[in-house]
Amino acid sequence: MTFESLGLAPALLRALAETNYNTPTPIQADAIPLVLAGHDVLGGAQTGTGKTAAFGLPLLQRLAEGQPAAVKGPRKPRALILVPTRELAVQVNDSLRAYGKHLRLNITSIYGGAGMQPQIEQLRRGVDVLVACPGRLLDHLERGTAKLDAVEMLILDEADRMLDMGFLPSIKRVIARVPTNRQTLLFSATFESRIRQLALEFMRNPQQVQVAANNTIADTIVHRAHPVDGPRKRELLIDILAKRHTEQVLVFGKTKHGCNRLAEQLEDAGLAAVAIHGNKSQAARQRALNDFKSGKARVLVATDVAARGLDIVNLPLVINHDLPMVAEDYVHRIGRTGRNGAQGEALSLVSPDEAGLLRQIQRMLKADIAMETVPGFEPSRQMRSDNAPFNAPRGPRPQRGHRPHGKPSGQQPRHAHAGPKQHRGGGNGKPASGTRRDSRA
Ligand code: AMP
Repeated sequence: MTFESLGLAPALLRALAETNYNTPTPIQADAIPLVLAGHDVLGGAQTGTGKTAAFGLPLLQRLAEGQPAAVKGPRKPRALILVPTRELAVQVNDSLRAYGKHLRLNITSIYGGAGMQPQIEQLRRGVDVLVACPGRLLDHLERGTAKLDAVEMLILDEADRMLDMGFLPSIKRVIARVPTNRQTLLFSATFESRIRQLALEFMRNPQQVQVAANNTIADTIVHRAHPVDGPRKRELLIDILAKRHTEQVLVFGKTKHGCNRLAEQLEDAGLAAVAIHGNKSQAARQRALNDFKSGKARVLVATDVAARGLDIVNLPLVINHDLPMVAEDYVHRIGRTGRNGAQGEALSLVSPDEAGLLRQIQRMLKADIAMETVPGFEPSRQMRSDNAPFNAPRGPRPQRGHRPHGKPSGQQPRHAHAGPKQHRGGGNGKPASGTRRDSRA
C-alpha cells in the first residue's frame, strides 16, 4: 500500500515524502479513498493513529481540485475543522500546513486564550481551511468576523472529547451556519450512542471506518508499579530518571500546581523539565511542548487534561507520578508509548493511598501490574507485592490530616470506589435539622 495508490495528487505526495511518511496508516488507507470520492465518513480513531492526515490529505486535495481560478475579495473558509482544544487546533493547523506546503491554500487556526485581533486580521486576509475551537468560533460568528456560508467540508475531530467538554450546543450552533450540501467527516475514539446520534443528525449516509476499539492497549507495553510513600515519590522519580539518563519521559501528575512544582524540583535536580497544564497561557504551553519535542527538555510533566490530544510521537517511557483518578485515563496516558509495534514502558509510582485506584486500573486492563519495590524506597505501610493488589484499607486513614473520628474530609475521593458524591452526600459538616443549632429550635 502506498499513498500514490490511494489516489493522492503529486503535490501532496511530494510533501509526504518530505515529511518522511512512507506508508499510509490503516485509518489513512481506509478513509482517504472514501473522502476523495466525496463520501461522509465516520472514523473511529484516536490520536496516534494518523487520523489528521486521514482527513487532512483528501481534504486538501479536494479543495485544491475545486479551487476557483480567481476569487474577488478575501477567500472565505471552504473547509472547517472543529477541534476540542487549542493544542489540537495548533497541531492540526501545523500538520495541514506541512501536507499542503506545495498547494496554494491558506490554513489558519482560531481558539480561545489568545488575542482576538490577530485572528480577526487573519480571517480578513482570507482563509481556505479554518481549524477552530467551537467557543472562539462562535465569538467570531457573532461579531461577523468569520463566515461559514462557503464551507464545503466540515470535520468534527475528536468529537467524543468535544461532547465531554460540553461543546454540543456550540457545535450545533456552528453547524447551523454551514451549508447543508457539504461533505461531513466525524472522528471519534468511540462510536457510543451520542456520537451515532450526532452522525444521524448531521451526516448523509456516512461510511464507517475504524482502526482500533476503544481501550485497546498495545501489547508491546510493559506495565510496572513501584510502591512508595507519597512524600517520597519525587525523590524516587529523580532516582529513576538519573539512572535512565537517555530517554525522554512524559510524567503525569494530578494537579496543575503539583505539575508545576514537580517540574521545578526536577530542574533543581539538574533534569531539564517543563510542565504543561490548563493554567498556562497558550504561548507558554506551546513553548513547553516545543521544548519537549525538540529535545531541549527531557521531561514533560502534564495533567490529564493538558495532555489530551497532544501530538507527542512514540515515547519509550511514560511515568505516572500520581495515578489517574479515573481508570480510563490510564489508557489515554500510556497511549503515548508502545505505538506502532515499538516497545514501551508504563511505570506508576503508587502510594498506599492509591491502592484502590491501582485495583481499578488492573480490573480495567484485565491484567495485573507487577509491583516492584525499589530498595531504599520501601513504603512505611505494608503493601503486598504479589499480584493480588495490596491491602487497601477501606476505613479511615489515620496518617492523613487530623480528622477526629476518622470521618472522611469530603474534600477529595481517595478511592475511586468511594466517589465524590458519596463523600459529599453525608459528612458535609452541616448540622442535621433537629439538632440544637437548628434555627427553628
Ligand atoms: P495523529 O493520529 O494524526 O495525531 O498522528 C500521530 C502521529 O503520526 C503524528 O506525529 C503524525 O505526524 C504521524 N503520522 C501520521 N501518519 C503517518 C504516516 N503515514 N507515516 C508516519 N508517520 C505518520
